[in-house]
Amino acid sequence: MKNTHLMIPGPIEVDYSVLSQMSSPMVAHYDEEWVKFYNGVIEKLKVIIGTQQDVFIMVGSGHTGLEAAISSVTSEEDEILVGINGLFGHRIADIAQSYARKVNTVEIEWGKAIDPDLIDDALQSNREIKLVIVVQGETSTGVLSPIKEIAQVCKAHDVLLMVDAVCSIGAVPFEMDNWGVDLCVTASQKGIGAPPGLVIVSVSERAWEAARASGRDSKGWYLNLSKWKEFLSLPQPYFITMAINNVRAINASLDNIMEEGINERFSRHAKVARAFRAGIRNMGLSTLADESVALNSVSVVKMPSNVFSQDLIRFLRKQYNIMVADGLDTFKGKAIRVGHMDNSAYLYNIIPVLFGIETFLRNCCNMNISYGASLIGC
Ligand SMILES: *Cc1c(COP(=O)(O)O)cnc(C)c1O
Repeated sequence: MKNTHLMIPGPIEVDYSVLSQMSSPMVAHYDEEWVKFYNGVIEKLKVIIGTQQDVFIMVGSGHTGLEAAISSVTSEEDEILVGINGLFGHRIADIAQSYARKVNTVEIEWGKAIDPDLIDDALQSNREIKLVIVVQGETSTGVLSPIKEIAQVCKAHDVLLMVDAVCSIGAVPFEMDNWGVDLCVTASQKGIGAPPGLVIVSVSERAWEAARASGRDSKGWYLNLSKWKEFLSLPQPYFITMAINNVRAINASLDNIMEEGINERFSRHAKVARAFRAGIRNMGLSTLADESVALNSVSVVKMPSNVFSQDLIRFLRKQYNIMVADGLDTFKGKAIRVGHMDNSAYLYNIIPVLFGIETFLRNCCNMNISYGASLIGC
């Protein structure tokens, strides 16, 4: 298979210092020295997530962690509220429904952020809700929702808050403990900059209390976070064969993140994302998200009405060896999604994408765009 330059919203192209860890020799996942290394990785993850509470690395993709978090702290018939402003919000509601939770939703137009006031209204009108779930960075729309403000609302109602931060942690600020988030899920292959295969789940003390109160702690096995908690203080802090080389890869990426400096990293993502969006606008196109709510790890660009997104995607692949993703759901065929996170959040990576889009629109769609217009922000 030929290597294509990946500019999709995950998996991202990982740095060689990270990738090379995947070919390390095997070690026993219960070896004392290994466990020490593993615990060091957990400490680094705690810094990135902004928590001193429990953090677990589970083998699986992002959805594994979402399912574990949802199913571990609530019981059947429990009322849950999901803020939905894109595909991943819908997925979360589906997962909760599959566990027979009573799912209430606040649905918000695609392209808009989740409004804390709407969460407040929903919690006012249904006092039975125990858990609110929202997505921080909606990968289907490129929108960032205000988690800190949503957490304040949840706290005022004494309701738990779970956040899907799969596409945002590592690229934009996240402060689990300071904000008062109870469950946080993120995965290895996006803002954290490692290969797919691991999901990171953090659980607050309040969430553990809820799990115990709901009797949930005795149900389920692999996805039961209470089971994972039982092992946390043991010499081998998990009960499965850990994907050791994926953990080594995450470690190398976390080291790169620390070396760059977390705030410098956020600024770099912001700068590159702004440059990307400025170029898009300067060609007369627009992103699904307004500038005020734009996510700095993914942009979703709407196609002009006469342009089919798949044609642009094929053009970029053929002419530039670059891969971007199609729109999701109703935006399939009508938008492209471009990932600019971790290693792809550099000007040298977005410039060919912008210029490729510009060339396509000029040469294949007869649009009157001046040469270099896409690069105005670079
Ligand atoms: C990618 C993503 C997921 C799903 O992760 P998988 O690793 O594909 O299971 C969930 N939520 C958001 C916001 C994502 O971007």
